[in-house]
Amino acid sequence: MGSPRAGTVSTFTGEVPADQLGTTLVHEHVFVGHPELDLNWPHPEWNEEEALDRAVAGFGRLHALGVRTVVDLTVPGLGRDVRRVLRVAERTPVRLIAATGYYTADGLPQFFRTHRPGGLVGGPDPLIEMFLRDIREGIAGTRVRAGMLKVFSDSGGITPDSERVFAAAAHAHLETGVPLTTHSHAESRGGTAQQQLLARLGVPLDRVVIGHAGDSEDLDYLMSLADAGSFLGFDRFGMEHVVPDAQRFRTLCALLSRGYADRILLSHDAAFFSRMTPPSWRSRTVPHWHMETVHRRVLPQLRAAGFAEPVLRMLMIGNPRRLLANDVAADPAAEIEEGT
Ligand SMILES: [Zn+2]
Repeated sequence: MGSPRAGTVSTFTGEVPADQLGTTLVHEHVFVGHPELDLNWPHPEWNEEEALDRAVAGFGRLHALGVRTVVDLTVPGLGRDVRRVLRVAERTPVRLIAATGYYTADGLPQFFRTHRPGGLVGGPDPLIEMFLRDIREGIAGTRVRAGMLKVFSDSGGITPDSERVFAAAAHAHLETGVPLTTHSHAESRGGTAQQQLLARLGVPLDRVVIGHAGDSEDLDYLMSLADAGSFLGFDRFGMEHVVPDAQRFRTLCALLSRGYADRILLSHDAAFFSRMTPPSWRSRTVPHWHMETVHRRVLPQLRAAGFAEPVLRMLMIGNPRRLLANDVAADPAAEIEEGT
């Protein structure tokens, strides 16, 4: 075991050459929970066996639509449980990719106060060792290795805790080549500060997805992120309680028309179960917030708007492959020719 080999990607079920990933959703969640709440006050809508069956059936429908790979960006802070997701991965033909990093909406746990240089217990920052172990050896004693790093900042900007996670993730990226996805706050143009910090930490910005960028309709902001080299995550289709899909679609078309097809990734940030927004609430409030919306609604709308199949293949196959394969200095135009 070690860092993934050149041109390969770690998945729940082993290493895969990046050119075999096929149609990929780069920002999804299988199950989002809160282990301490779940242990003490289980959610009334949660039933593990039913949830596993629902996920397997959902991935089956995605496979029928042509999806071959899904990145599960559920990291600690969102209730990551790779043993549970592995039980899904073993039952579906869709390849799943695990992530490491930290979702710091609630800050880092107290453990990280005492365990840090200058902290009560001291030592090096354990986050670095944790992220590297997840990528090189496997997560929580499994053989599931992380294929993506996830970092977080929101409307409050880059807090000391999020900066610490960015620094550890940058360290892990520079040692392993595993790409990063951010959670960014579009309204405050939060991706700009994230790019500045990552650049200062030495991370090549073309190895970075500014997640949730597609919640912004500010073309100047979005083009500046893309011009600096990063991918733009149009990764919340269906999440209409934040931004209507019609707005995301307009912005997407505007960027495609301006030649940014090689910088855009489509996904949903959906989940088969999330304690924060449980299934009953989702089906009532945001009926299209599930992992089939890109294929059932967005791609047909793009075709109707006149975008050709090579552009759609770039969005769904070529761009995820370029992002996920550590070493592919690929020419996006050449990839389209291959007609994958
Ligand atoms: Zn997410």
